[in-house]
Amino acid sequence: MSTLRFKVVEEAFKREPVSITVPKEFPSEYFGKYVFNRTKMSKYLSKDTMNVIIKAIDEGVTLPHNISEHVAAGMKMWAMEMGATHYTHWFQPLTEGTAEKHDSFIEYNGSPLECDILERFSGKLLAQQEPDASSFPSGGIRNTFEARGYTAWDPSSPAFIVEDTLCIPTVFISYTGEALDYKTPLLKSLSAIDKASVEVCNLFDKNVKKVYSFLGWEQEFFLVDQALYSARPDLMLTDRTLMGHDSAKNQQLEDHYFGAIPPRVAAFMRELEFEAYRYGIPIKTRHNEVAPNQFEFAPIYGETNLAVDQNLIVMSLMHKIANKHNFRLLLHEKPFQGVNGSGKHCNWSLGTDTGVGLFTPGKTAEENLLFVTFLVNTVMAVYTHNALLKASIMSASNTHRLGANEAPPAIISVFLGTHISAVLDKIEESAENNIITMDELKRMKLGVAHVPEVLIDNTDRNRTSPFAFTGNRFEFRAVGSSANCSSAMFVLNSVVAAQLNSFTKEVSAKINEGMHREQAIFDTLRSYIKKSKPIRFDGNGYSDEWKDEAQKRGLDCETSVPLIFDAYTSQQSVEMFRSVSVLNTVELSARNEVKWEVYTKKIQIESRVLGDLSINHIIPVATKYQSALLDNLYKIKIVFDEVRAAELSEEDASLIEQIATHISIIKKNVDAMVEARKVANKMEDAREKAIAYSNMVEPYFNVIRYHVDKLELIVDNEIWPLPKYRELLFIS
Ligand code: ADP
Ligand code: MG
Repeated sequence: MSTLRFKVVEEAFKREPVSITVPKEFPSEYFGKYVFNRTKMSKYLSKDTMNVIIKAIDEGVTLPHNISEHVAAGMKMWAMEMGATHYTHWFQPLTEGTAEKHDSFIEYNGSPLECDILERFSGKLLAQQEPDASSFPSGGIRNTFEARGYTAWDPSSPAFIVEDTLCIPTVFISYTGEALDYKTPLLKSLSAIDKASVEVCNLFDKNVKKVYSFLGWEQEFFLVDQALYSARPDLMLTDRTLMGHDSAKNQQLEDHYFGAIPPRVAAFMRELEFEAYRYGIPIKTRHNEVAPNQFEFAPIYGETNLAVDQNLIVMSLMHKIANKHNFRLLLHEKPFQGVNGSGKHCNWSLGTDTGVGLFTPGKTAEENLLFVTFLVNTVMAVYTHNALLKASIMSASNTHRLGANEAPPAIISVFLGTHISAVLDKIEESAENNIITMDELKRMKLGVAHVPEVLIDNTDRNRTSPFAFTGNRFEFRAVGSSANCSSAMFVLNSVVAAQLNSFTKEVSAKINEGMHREQAIFDTLRSYIKKSKPIRFDGNGYSDEWKDEAQKRGLDCETSVPLIFDAYTSQQSVEMFRSVSVLNTVELSARNEVKWEVYTKKIQIESRVLGDLSINHIIPVATKYQSALLDNLYKIKIVFDEVRAAELSEEDASLIEQIATHISIIKKNVDAMVEARKVANKMEDAREKAIAYSNMVEPYFNVIRYHVDKLELIVDNEIWPLPKYRELLFIS
């Protein structure tokens, strides 16, 4: 009997790598070809326009109106030379991913009666667009009939071309000015961290005029052959497997990580790299990950706003190119139970316009004091806002990864490593009013940490930390592979900005009271080190002891996704976001509405798919196998005498009973889950509904799955309908 499963497995097995065209030039020659970057600007814009726009980007000043007209003209010329015929405002709605609505450049040349067209792209079209985006979630801010949302050009991230379309990065805001996207709060947080950091830097060096936030993301993902994928409705509709028994071999041998990249995947990766370079995205690293069929891409880090845009471009390129190579890309954080999930580690740091990395230990005592200042303030910020940071990375999908294999737990803690910890301990122990001398600070040999801590410390322990210091940056590891990094980045930059502002205030007050600058700084840092101690944890973050310990320390240990989102609107968060002018109360509540709605929809879809698969795919097949067994049983009775027949059919009888039991439990639970959904659907309030889905609907998933997976072990392999884990994970 040839089931769909066998057909697709055969198809997948036979597949060869897709051939790709390798560019003749070195990457440096075509890097940024599709991007309207500074080099292109200088070619297509006048010197005056160029200066204004660079000033606007560097100093964050608003662009004068007439400038957009000039920019639009230059951009259009470049885009048309590149073969573009359309343009779009490219934005980042709260649904994750990106959105675009394409318009052609064409316009009537004169009256419609003349039927003559030309290509036009005005400054107005560049600066602002009203996408009929009423279908994007706004959490009730936008009333579809009155206030339409609009997109507005973000000159700080360069326009780029995808196929025939000029894409203009924009913010998406409601008519009344509230942010409906991820970019708006990110840009505001970048300006907040810049201001706050410059003030702190100026305590040390008056020459610092600007501080940048840097981001280097590491994108993990799975690839599955498209034929296998098409035979798994759960992958197609939910991006993860809702059932499937563990493969006898999965990642135990850890042989994938160091193994060679499979040829089909290598072709995909190379093509992706070529494309990424053309988009000015400096992909540096490509490798296998720990789980079978799991891989990673990472670029060289860059300015955060740009890096976020680039990650979104890469995610969409990955989908496109994976399809071309007959794969499907899985960005879900936990597509397969029992093997590692996918994250998107966000390497984050701050750096000045004078070229100083603020998390890079220096050579002089003064440099080290600056380093310790930024380090301690970050730790303090993460401590104060650990619940909010957790909310920033939480989603219906990432929750499956947190706390499971190779993933940081759903508790935010900071890993500093023994070396840096010792430095902080030393400062903490130094007697009140007795500052560590600059000499002592120098002797701490902070410079050693430049040979990254990870080398000195046990990397394994370090890997369990959701927020780890890694030598010259922090690595926020809890971020999920499918997320827009902006969510984590705007929260992180905001909380650190708010913290730095308090620091400046405290230090200045002490200086005004007559304290020496260094003593004021030490004094303040010492109090932060003491206060923030509960967030520091260098042990095994996966252990159960840590969960108890974290609870005792007062860290946020909430595990319910809908309740975790409450942290956005706590009084503390509202006040913090207000103080750095990143989001207001209306925006925060509206965004949570969206988060709850998205959560509900995801669970609802998963629940429907699970029900359908169980009832229409699994049970019929199990029943078929059961009746084959029954048939056999009858036939045995015909051939053998009663006693012998009973002996011989014992095994079959037991299997029949097991199958019947599993089927009955699955049916009952699917029915109960449907009823639970009906109850949950009646809830009006978005938060209540999400809670109901989380508490009443989701718990059925594991029960149903458990029994389906048991059936998978019993039922004849020949007729099992869904590609099994071993096929999904080991064919590439
Ligand atoms: P690992 O897997 O050990 O974490 P990777 O090389 O995969 O390391 O990724 C490290 C990422 O961190 C890269 O994107 C790299 O560019 C980035 N990175 C390095 N230094 C900094 C820094 N100072 N600030 C931000 N990101 C950084
Ligand atoms: Mg890595």
